[in-house]
Amino acid sequence: MRNERDQERGKATADTVTFQDKEGRCLVPFTDILAHFAKRAKAAFPSANGRVGRALEIATDARNVIIADDYTTFFICSQTGGGGGWYTVTDAGCQCKDYEFGHVCKHMIARWLVIRAQQADGTRRREV
Ligand SMILES: [Zn+2]
Repeated sequence: MRNERDQERGKATADTVTFQDKEGRCLVPFTDILAHFAKRAKAAFPSANGRVGRALEIATDARNVIIADDYTTFFICSQTGGGGGWYTVTDAGCQCKDYEFGHVCKHMIARWLVIRAQQADGTRRREV
């Protein structure tokens, strides 16, 4: 279901959402773009809604995410235990228990959300 704001953003077709004006300036806050992609992920994968919600919380706080120079390796802060541990997250997977047990974990989803949002707002040009 699309709301007025989505409609203002232009064509919200599957993979061609634009958040930029003709000069490439981003029109909406990064956190709104993250939320947009989280909403799409929840719609596409209803069974993963809990993980997507937690991934959005992680991705929304920039202190939780460090992106390596290769732009594909992410270090994502553990949300449990208060130990301040970090997981290395790449296309190949994540180091956490949830991923080890065969799930697409919240860290993988958080990484995906950040990458998609960066592509959408123009700060990331390269597909990964
Ligand atoms: Zn993980």
